[in-house]
Amino acid sequence: MWLHFFWRTVMKGLYIHIPFCVKKCEYCDFLSFSGCENYFDEYISALLREMEKHQGTEFDTVFIGGGTPSVLSYKQIERVCDGIKHSFKLSPNLEWTMEINPGTITEEKIQAMKDGGVNRVSVGVQSFNDNELEAVGRIHRSKSAYDTVTVLHNAGFSNISIDLMESLPYQTDDSFKHSLEVAMSLPISHISVYSLIIEDGTPIKEKYDNGIYALPDEDSDRDLYKYTGEYLKQNGFSRYEISNYAKAGFESKHNLKYWNCDEYIGIGLGAHSYIDGVRSYNTSVLGEYISGVTTVDENILTKNDKMGEFMMLGLRKTEGVDKNEFYRRFDVYPDGIWKSQLDKFIALKLMKEENGAYSLTQRGIDISNLIMCEFL
Ligand code: SF4
Repeated sequence: MWLHFFWRTVMKGLYIHIPFCVKKCEYCDFLSFSGCENYFDEYISALLREMEKHQGTEFDTVFIGGGTPSVLSYKQIERVCDGIKHSFKLSPNLEWTMEINPGTITEEKIQAMKDGGVNRVSVGVQSFNDNELEAVGRIHRSKSAYDTVTVLHNAGFSNISIDLMESLPYQTDDSFKHSLEVAMSLPISHISVYSLIIEDGTPIKEKYDNGIYALPDEDSDRDLYKYTGEYLKQNGFSRYEISNYAKAGFESKHNLKYWNCDEYIGIGLGAHSYIDGVRSYNTSVLGEYISGVTTVDENILTKNDKMGEFMMLGLRKTEGVDKNEFYRRFDVYPDGIWKSQLDKFIALKLMKEENGAYSLTQRGIDISNLIMCEFL
């Protein structure tokens, strides 16, 4: 079978981290800081220095994430984009995403993004209900999120993604469905729907611990997840990953690199890279990064690590784990390693084997974390 030996040519992805926000949201444990405007220019200088270390690398995806990259001024956005174009070879089919938050965007910034090469925008909407946005400390309100997407579309962005959150404080089934409906009335091509996760050390954790807010029960969570999949499907958005839905051809190429275990270079504070089977980690200390320290740790993955990750991350995708691709990478088929687990999950209808791939069924998605753990 020649297919076994077909070599998928995959270029690397580039991630640039902007660790700044206007204000910390109540649930956020990402590496981001508010009140650091005085460091923006120095931070960008450090980013440009780190880019030079990888001078000439070729990428077909760029993702400027955060934090809130759109807190930068338009001049600073120009500096970052110019640095990327100056340092790297960018594929003609480049997907270049920038994350933005409503309430931080201006005409000049939109122009700087367009001139810079950004052709995909990911907007952190989270909800179209003001009481939910307020409860989690977002700086914007529903109208501003709606207007932001409209303005981006009118400015010529045809590939717009939004994020929504499920299980927010005060959220009801109806209010979540309202957010979905508003989302579907907007000119977007991709939507991510994540559940609120209550992380230790965040202000919102205390409120849940003190009974001010309560989490929805698992059954209603599952029902809403199913509703979301069906409703979005009716509107032309297919689920291609557990939490991600897109119109045909608008799946995030960059994020697919993570789920496919392809290589990427992360630049910026706390950024990770994955190259030649080595995962490396940048410092998370802002002062260190600005003063020129970058990589502080490395982890060389064993073959077992790589197989486990390929299976675990691949199962997040609706198309699942391609058996021939697994063989091409590891010289063994998945059932040569995990026969008993695969037989068990297939018999329990938690997984299926279809079109030469293993994937999760709807029931399997409901307990995906438990299933994935068995392949690590
Ligand atoms: S905007 Fe995003 S990164 Fe910034 S604090 Fe809120 S959740 Fe965290």
